Amino acid sequence: MDSPLHIAVVGSGPSGFYAAEALLRSQHVVHVSMLERLPAPYGLVRYGVAPDHQKLKKVISVFDRIAAHERFTYFGNVALGRDVTIEELKSCYHAVVLACGAPRDRQLGITGESMDGCHAATDFVGWYNGHPDFRDKTFNFDCETAVIIGQGNVAADVCRILTMPPEELRKSDISAHALEELAKSKIRNVHIVGRRGPVQAKFSPAELRELDQISDVSCEADPVACEIGPACLEEVGDKSNPAAAKNFDLFRRFSTNRQNDAGRRITFQFCLEPTEIFGDGSVTGVRFTQTALQGAAHHQKAVATDNAFSIDCGIVFKSIGYKGVALPGLPFDDKAGVVPNEKGRVVASGASLPGVYVTGWQKRGPTGIIGSNRADSIETIESLMTDMSTFQNDNPKEGAESLAALLQQRDVRFINIDDWRIIDRLEIERGMVSGKPREKFAEVDEMIDVLSCSVPEDRQAAKAD
Ligand code: NAP
Repeated sequence: MDSPLHIAVVGSGPSGFYAAEALLRSQHVVHVSMLERLPAPYGLVRYGVAPDHQKLKKVISVFDRIAAHERFTYFGNVALGRDVTIEELKSCYHAVVLACGAPRDRQLGITGESMDGCHAATDFVGWYNGHPDFRDKTFNFDCETAVIIGQGNVAADVCRILTMPPEELRKSDISAHALEELAKSKIRNVHIVGRRGPVQAKFSPAELRELDQISDVSCEADPVACEIGPACLEEVGDKSNPAAAKNFDLFRRFSTNRQNDAGRRITFQFCLEPTEIFGDGSVTGVRFTQTALQGAAHHQKAVATDNAFSIDCGIVFKSIGYKGVALPGLPFDDKAGVVPNEKGRVVASGASLPGVYVTGWQKRGPTGIIGSNRADSIETIESLMTDMSTFQNDNPKEGAESLAALLQQRDVRFINIDDWRIIDRLEIERGMVSGKPREKFAEVDEMIDVLSCSVPEDRQAAKAD
């Protein structure tokens, strides 16, 4: 019989878990180790999905079943590049699958972008979701107007969190530090601005509709932009993209809304390209150039006109997409923000890098929903299993055992799956006190500390879960 394969998956978000699932389901006996930079697993499901979207987080039960597999080992609080190198991982495992996502924000490249009060949506999302990297960010909600640049689902999440009544947020697993600040927010107007038109907005219709369902909020849209030309009409009529027509219907309805008694107002504005964030040390507004759409249906670009437009505001969120980061010792396409690959095989200088694979946003860029990562990871694992003979025979590896020994030698405090279950349990218990699904530990040290305080009964209970 062939000897078992030992594979390391780096990253514990959806693409990492779906890669682990595909490996564990393969015909061959595969042992999977999953490395995660933070103590807690689940990546964007824990730290990206909005706290009021608890239904979307139910996918965690699928990931938990994968993690419970006897051939799965979790190494939380272990970062590639910080605690272990890619070469060391390759010496412990037959192959390495990168599933590290796209953690950075994209830049607008305009004046004033780094001014106080101008934030990346990624920072805000991490902050309200209790991500340890963003725990100490500060946001000033002591102003009436916020501008969100970009019209995708992250912009919708940011807008909802800014406009939802605190009593609603309180029922979610939003972090306590964020809830405290948002409950004092004076923001009454949120402008969500797109550089193209209402037909090209990237919201999922369900997310857009949800904004209209927030209590005491009025959604409004620029009526002029809702008078569309032939290319947009063709896009709206395209049955293969029903989202465009659904969004456009909603925007048309919003364009007739004028609910002056609403407590908060969301205004959708279109065909405005940001050119400058201005202020007096901190943000007081955003300047835009009006754009005109040019090109054939589905390929329309925003082309700047001579008309300028400004919105006065006290806070700005740039929500224009995520970007991957280069990892030490691995190739990176800086322009696309991904690891160059062919069907998941990492490519360096035109040739596949033996035994190194990539999946998820790190492979294809920041697109799609959680489920999109399943097919993506299956493709990568198919490539890996096809290549298996090149790295399996006569090449015994010790997998998790050898990695654990290396980390212990370096005094790296790694978190195993039982440790994580204790943290998980304690978070849920903390949440119960205030009627929330959970209260996350928002600092790495806190998570490590609660483990050293945990009693044997906690460990027994975690094992039984
Ligand atoms: P996105 O969907 O790609 O939207 C980015 C937005 O930024 C677009 O409106 C884009 O306009 C605009 N933009 C890009 N560059 C710009 C620039 N230089 N100036 C002005 N505007 C610019 O990205 P996202 O919202 O970050 O979402 C990332 C992925 O996560 C998406 O696949 C999304 O569906 C998914 N997600 C899903 C959910 C959910 O299902 N609930 C929640 C959050 C995120 P153009 O179209 O003109 O480029």
